[in-house]
Amino acid sequence: MSLRTVLQLVVHGEATSRADIARRTGLARSTVSQQVELLIGSGLVEEVVTSASVRGRPPRLLRVRAAAGLLVAVDVDVPATRVAVADLAGNTLAVGVVDRPVDDGPEAVLAGVVDQVRRSVAGLDAPLLQVVVGLPGPVDFVHGYAVRPPIMPGWDGHPVGERLRAALGVPVLVDNDVNLMAVGEADVAGVDPPLLFVRIGAGIGSGLVTGPFQVHRGADGAAGDIGHVRTSARSEVLCRCGKTGCLEATASLRAIAADLGIPEVRGADREHGQRTLAARVAAGDPVAVHRIRQAAAEIGDVVAGLVHFFNPRTLVLGGALSSLRDEVLAGVRASVYENALPLATRKLVITTSQLDGEAVLRGAVALAVQEVFSPDGLSGLLARGGGRVSPGS
Ligand SMILES: [Zn+2]
Repeated sequence: MSLRTVLQLVVHGEATSRADIARRTGLARSTVSQQVELLIGSGLVEEVVTSASVRGRPPRLLRVRAAAGLLVAVDVDVPATRVAVADLAGNTLAVGVVDRPVDDGPEAVLAGVVDQVRRSVAGLDAPLLQVVVGLPGPVDFVHGYAVRPPIMPGWDGHPVGERLRAALGVPVLVDNDVNLMAVGEADVAGVDPPLLFVRIGAGIGSGLVTGPFQVHRGADGAAGDIGHVRTSARSEVLCRCGKTGCLEATASLRAIAADLGIPEVRGADREHGQRTLAARVAAGDPVAVHRIRQAAAEIGDVVAGLVHFFNPRTLVLGGALSSLRDEVLAGVRASVYENALPLATRKLVITTSQLDGEAVLRGAVALAVQEVFSPDGLSGLLARGGGRVSPGS
């Protein structure tokens, strides 16, 4: 019986006491105590005395020591990149901003990320164990880079995972940001899977979570990229991807703002277009409201097809500024209920994101915790455990 098995029971909450471990593993109490002492000595596990004493000795609770390691979540977004540091319990300790737009290219943005990570973890007395990065484009999850991302000039094939791994010396996962948002809603906010997350912003994308931490990425990582599905409406409109009639080219907030003559960026304000559009909708401008409803119906048509195909329990809409969200939600909801079959919509919950602007970072931290506590991660953790214990002991 390996030390890893005992750690695994504690990590996943399957055993919270020495007696639990003995029961679950069939090991003698003395052996269990020895193993637990080793884990406590390594700093990975702590034993706390709980106040809920019934009689006799107060019960002692085994749990992972949250301060035993650090996780970093990186949200590379169009206007800037955010970097969060969290403990092993997934609590965010600090969030920093790398003030560089994605247009500056991977060299500049990633150098800023490395700087920010080093600064953030410098004062914290624990080893960095895992980094998870979200990118706003199609991502090859296995190799850790973006593939032909329409809004990330210079990032195509740039080895983001490899670069950060080399600079920071820890494992790095790179994922599409909407996948991380979906993980955040399902595994942090506790929304029921199967969960389909649809992000409507400057672009349009989706992520599908089928169970706990089970993201459907597809064979190459391209699953969920619905922004470039061709819609029948206004099929002559040219998209940023080079095709015409993409959903994103007609129904994204960027497309709507452009239609209404609102500039996307003004000075340093990179969300000027969305903000102005939201203000017009909030003020009841009939042209803006009409255009938003039209876009929501187009998005709803595509999403209704996905609802047929995946039969999600929950459809979560995110990305849009809150004042636009009610209009978008109403439009998508109407279109999905009108177009999808009753069996697929009978118990379907359609809602807006609970985590909102924090969804990428929260999802990335959750995925990092999951990765650190995976069988491979636990072996690495024991090997690092101050050199005091080895995975096989
Ligand atoms: Zn396109």
